[in-house]
Amino acid sequence: MLAALPARQDFLLALPIKGESFLLRRAGKTVLVDGGYGKDKVAHVLEQQFRDVQYLDIVVCTHGDGDHVGGLPALLDNWGGRVGQLWLPGRWVNVVPQLMRDPVEFFNNLVSELDAELKEPSKQVCSVIRHADDEHGSQDYQQEIASPSVNNVLNPADEWLDDFVDAPVDHGDLPHEPEWFQRLRRDKEKLASDHTASRAIKSACRKVKYRQNRQTSELTSRIACYWLGLIETAQAIRDLAIAAIRHGIRTRWFDFEKFAETRQAKGGARGFLVPINAVEQATPLTMLARWMHLTKINRESLVFLAPPTRRRFGVLFCADSPLGDGPQYVHCFLPTLPPSTRWIPMVATAPHHGSETNKAAYDHLRKWPNVRVLLRAGGSVKQPGRSFLQQHSLLRLCAKCPRVGHAPMLSGVVGSYRPLSPLIAYGRRCDCSTSP
Ligand SMILES: [Zn+2]
Ligand SMILES: [Zn+2]
Repeated sequence: MLAALPARQDFLLALPIKGESFLLRRAGKTVLVDGGYGKDKVAHVLEQQFRDVQYLDIVVCTHGDGDHVGGLPALLDNWGGRVGQLWLPGRWVNVVPQLMRDPVEFFNNLVSELDAELKEPSKQVCSVIRHADDEHGSQDYQQEIASPSVNNVLNPADEWLDDFVDAPVDHGDLPHEPEWFQRLRRDKEKLASDHTASRAIKSACRKVKYRQNRQTSELTSRIACYWLGLIETAQAIRDLAIAAIRHGIRTRWFDFEKFAETRQAKGGARGFLVPINAVEQATPLTMLARWMHLTKINRESLVFLAPPTRRRFGVLFCADSPLGDGPQYVHCFLPTLPPSTRWIPMVATAPHHGSETNKAAYDHLRKWPNVRVLLRAGGSVKQPGRSFLQQHSLLRLCAKCPRVGHAPMLSGVVGSYRPLSPLIAYGRRCDCSTSP
């Protein structure tokens, strides 16, 4: 279908796979944001439906949830030398080095942490388990952080002009990889083999399942079940980092915590794709239990913006983020757009697959200038919720309406290169039931 599009046409499409994965073409460059669940699916879809896409300039992983990161390691292995850069969550610094060097020790420790929790469940674990009910991914276990009273000012407007879009992902001028990752690259012989890692993972799964079967309370058996998910996340993170090293893919790291402190997002590819809730830099280590580093904190999902320009529609990649912080996430952290771009149409990916737990995000999007299309992918029959369904002024597209049972379908928008010409929608208007 898309082979028929002129090569210069921009588009944003949700790939027809399980979980969430978006393909953006902009200024002749191609970006993949997240890779859905499972193995080989993304590579297969790209091969079948995007024959003219031969190179991915940037592959982004927004966070460690299985429905976002799961398919990426296989994609990188499949595409080997055809990926330019890999953008990753900075907080992974806390787990990647040990996962790569000593997975046996890593998983042993993770199982020990489980034993401690089974004996006497901590407040944090109880909170995580309680919230795991709400959605496929857990919400926050931490105290909500107070947001600094600063506006998130991104780049000055003049950096968003089309001139900057033409050489946006230059390899010459990139920030250095953090020292800790360079060290992993240099000392390749110190990295554990795939065989060792997969044995450690299998053994950890066995131990956790054994413990799960012996639990008599509902809480502790759910804690054990939760641990199986953590092992899966750890495996995906390890595989992704290994693939980056094996195929010599340049990594860039985006730190949410630094943003939470300063509320000034920084880095990315200027004028092309920039972080909204992260600072590009080496993230300092945090002292937390391993399981906490692996816990899928949706609040910290990385959000990226492909800025609107005179000739291109803008795209906001929301991942599973609430798009705000503070109590109930009411303090919106979306940046103020330059006045000159406010009439340009924006497309947003539906925060957290349309989930009602991200109600705040839908309020923030409604108040943001010119969002015209919401593109939904992934999620389960619990999604989408009321807030998503009530965005009547927007065109809502679903790659798959979970409650209706259609097969997943390539959906999204294709934008013309000419000013003022409308976006063309592809795929399916949301047909999800209005009774959540
Ligand atoms: Zn998700
Ligand atoms: Zn739908």
